[in-house]
Amino acid sequence: MTKKQKKMLVRILITAVMLIALKFIPITGIPQLLAYLAAYAVIGYDILKKAVHGIASGRPFDENFLMALATLGAFAVAIWTKSGDYVEGIAVMLFYQIGELFQSYAVGKSRRNISALMDIRPDYANIETDGQLTQVSPDEVAVGSIIVVQPGEKVPLDGVIVEGTASLNTSALTGESLPRDVKAGDEIISGCIDLSGVLKIRTTKAFGESTVSKILDLVENASSRKSRSEAFISRFAKIYTPAVCFAALALAILIPLGRMLAGASADWVTWIYRALTFLVVSCPCALVISIPLSFFAGIGGASREGILIKGSNYLEALADAKIVVFDKTGTLTQGVFEVTAVHHSPYDEQQLLEYAALAECASSHPISKSLQRAYGGAIDRERVADIEELSGHGVTATVDGHTVAAGNAKLMKKLGVAYRDCHSTGTIIHMAIDGQYAGHIVISDIVKPHSKQAIAQLKKCGVQKTVMLTGDARRVADEVASELGVDEVRSELLPAGKVEELEKLLAQRGKNDKLAFVGDGINDAPVLTRADIGIAMGAMGSDAAIEAADVVLMDDDPLQISKAIGISRKCIGIVRQNIVFSLIVKFGCLALTAAGITDMWAAIFADVGVMVLAVLNAIRALRYHAPKV
Ligand code: ADP
Ligand code: MG
Repeated sequence: MTKKQKKMLVRILITAVMLIALKFIPITGIPQLLAYLAAYAVIGYDILKKAVHGIASGRPFDENFLMALATLGAFAVAIWTKSGDYVEGIAVMLFYQIGELFQSYAVGKSRRNISALMDIRPDYANIETDGQLTQVSPDEVAVGSIIVVQPGEKVPLDGVIVEGTASLNTSALTGESLPRDVKAGDEIISGCIDLSGVLKIRTTKAFGESTVSKILDLVENASSRKSRSEAFISRFAKIYTPAVCFAALALAILIPLGRMLAGASADWVTWIYRALTFLVVSCPCALVISIPLSFFAGIGGASREGILIKGSNYLEALADAKIVVFDKTGTLTQGVFEVTAVHHSPYDEQQLLEYAALAECASSHPISKSLQRAYGGAIDRERVADIEELSGHGVTATVDGHTVAAGNAKLMKKLGVAYRDCHSTGTIIHMAIDGQYAGHIVISDIVKPHSKQAIAQLKKCGVQKTVMLTGDARRVADEVASELGVDEVRSELLPAGKVEELEKLLAQRGKNDKLAFVGDGINDAPVLTRADIGIAMGAMGSDAAIEAADVVLMDDDPLQISKAIGISRKCIGIVRQNIVFSLIVKFGCLALTAAGITDMWAAIFADVGVMVLAVLNAIRALRYHAPKV
């Protein structure tokens, strides 16, 4: 409990004791009134202050105003009727404050829970100088420095391991609970926890650019993007609060006046009392609090599963996803190609690979990384000049003074080089050296282990269509698509072609249906931005993709997409339940009050009760259990 919450608890207890004591102390008249007013002041002074503030700043219609008006009104009625029943006004204030206390406690607790889940911020980095480790703040470490991570510590910065082996716990980043083994030469991202060995890491990014900082920024800013439901509630409150105030005024004045005109007794006291009760009932706090809390819990629960959602609006859109479009390389397939053959080349295999690897040395495409790996040797960038990457085609460069081109048939056509078709299945990298065709390298990729299951899961959770867009050759694309059970394929697309195909799909979707695109951001960043929901692969994908995307999957597993949809549906379900439940109870109570059936006590019980239930319901969004398959 915070200090503020403790103080409120003390005020609640004092007021309760005072109320009980006053029941047994036989005072009447003015001293009695003063004693009750003192109890009222203890419990309600802050509400009165806020209400006055609201009126002074020209925005009177808030819940503080409603509570102040209703409780002071109850006092006025008690004085007027000389009943001496001052308990009511105080009790209403007391219950209201108990409700507020509960709510601030519950909200604070779930926020702390979520932050604890996201506890990936590293506090320090170890730098070794003359055999001594010194701790420095991660943002003081220059790119290219060597840092040391010991067992039990968080990896503070992104980098490459230069020495050591270890198991890493990546669960805070990816939701994956199995430890991952790493060794010298592997890339490592910040936010993982070292479970076993000592690692020496050469940093490749500054702290602000490292994975942890990006994730934290993302989650912290997520709540600023409002969903339609949240926007609806704030618009609703703007109309609702003044409306109930005027309705109360009508109850208090118009009905007694009407009765007078009709010749009956006006009965002012009854109607003013009803109007005051009406005000107590009308307070919309259950809605105002529980809806943002549900979204916050949903986003927090998703991030615990390794799914980062950048705003409530995307969470809401995910629940309506009906078309899911995939990129192939790096998304459904691993993007790790093996060289399976070299055909029609006047060069020997290793030499051709060397040319290819050198020409590709600056590209971040999975093909380029695979060719460099297949070559295996060290790459001396001094030998390479004039590198040009043509997206969806390949690369051209000058290597040792020879012009080298490596890419697909489109590239060869563009350069006017006569190439030879290949009949093996696989991705074909044609090579041209000094303008002469130099044969082709056949490489093949494997599909990710969960891709097929991921497509099946999407179907099961109500996605109507799955589509694969790829820049790769038709034969490979068709084979992958039929293996995975994707509904439609479009192949041999340039990045602009992917956008065009996406536009067509967007035009086909139903009015309330949403389209999600899943990619790794290499040659598909424009599509990621254009889709209703852009989903990027976080570990493999480029930084640009993570920036352009609305949802980031930390562990690159396509199975996470149906999980993300499941989480969003659960969260939206909770939001709807809360809206419907609080509105029904609210309007029901308002009607009962206007008819004179409930008194102020029942009203405040109903109000606090609904709020508590709605908040407890909202917290459910934090947990998600995937349906068994
Ligand atoms: P995908 O849609 O499957 O992710 P891309 O649009 O990234 O594929 O690339 C499409 C095709 O362009 C590749 O299959 C390859 O033939 C060619 N290509 C793209 N970049 C390169 C590169 N760096 N080196 C060689 N070929 C490339
Ligand atoms: Mg790609």
